Amino acid sequence: MTSTNGTMRGVFLPGDSTAVLREYGVPRPGHGQVLVEIGASGICGSDIGFIYRGYKGYRGVDGPAYRGVIAGHEPAGRIVAAGPGVRRFGPGDRVIVYHIVGCGLCDNCRRGHYISCGHGRESYGWQRDGGHAPFLLAEERTCVPLPDELSYVDGALIACGFGTAYEGLRRAGVSGDTDLLVVGLGPVGLAAGMIGRGLGAREVVGVEPSEERRAWAGTLGVFDRTLPAGDGTAAAVTIDCSGTRPGRSLALEAAAEWGHVSLVGEGGDLHTEVSDTLLHKQLTIHASWVTSLPAMSELARNLVGWGLRPEKVVSDTFGFAQADEAYALAAGASKGKVVLVPDAS
Ligand SMILES: [Zn+2]
Ligand SMILES: [Zn+2]
Repeated sequence: MTSTNGTMRGVFLPGDSTAVLREYGVPRPGHGQVLVEIGASGICGSDIGFIYRGYKGYRGVDGPAYRGVIAGHEPAGRIVAAGPGVRRFGPGDRVIVYHIVGCGLCDNCRRGHYISCGHGRESYGWQRDGGHAPFLLAEERTCVPLPDELSYVDGALIACGFGTAYEGLRRAGVSGDTDLLVVGLGPVGLAAGMIGRGLGAREVVGVEPSEERRAWAGTLGVFDRTLPAGDGTAAAVTIDCSGTRPGRSLALEAAAEWGHVSLVGEGGDLHTEVSDTLLHKQLTIHASWVTSLPAMSELARNLVGWGLRPEKVVSDTFGFAQADEAYALAAGASKGKVVLVPDAS
């Protein structure tokens, strides 16, 4: 085991399209906190868009959303120390860390939707130290059990992208009664395809304009078909994971009569003709932001039951020491998800 005394190197993002290593003290857990030895820590599209390429603000947060902390909001690992008052988890437990710490008392927090807490919520890797380091100081109440059948990389993927896709698909009612069209085959779109399979969708179709991403997605055994554009395909449930105006338009246009459309891609805007596209088809649109603690836990158990492994959508894995290279790839031409893992010692 890596020593929990002394110092460690963690990844800091200066906002100039680089990632640098800095020296930090290994934290000690206080009341209600645990020390997690990181097993894997994902790089997210939001890290690229809001931090890596230049600091941006975020609704509900004053100034830049990133406060110069250790980056990484998709952590999974093993608890190695617990502070006083920790009750559910303890040393040796494998956990996924839900990436936002809410107040714990408002109604959104009580539903497990820390993401929607309006009372000073903080995200690991943005406002407090995150998972791109050998150890993470986590609040016990943000920990979700990671089943033994899943790897730390699986857990890191569940911590953000897979959780987001799961919530969007559950709200839209994907089941054995429906088919599913996924727009945008980045990491979240690949997650949506895999979870759609698990939920039993009859046919899972992926749309992705990038030939390289589309070709790679086609090798994963997740999609029945992958297409460069809509091609007139209709589905009972469609989900936009692209976050682009044309992607959202396609998700609306490709929804069948009485269909459900889920929007989970961040940023930009939405333009649509209303009568033929929405009203006359009797559509229901779901706007879904991240997920809840219980849904994340349920997803981890379901993935085991379905025999599905999120790590399949990882195209590249790097040690923390190669963070600069990893971020450059994630911000550029990566085919799938990019994940950081501890350096071999
Ligand atoms: Zn994320
Ligand atoms: Zn709250």
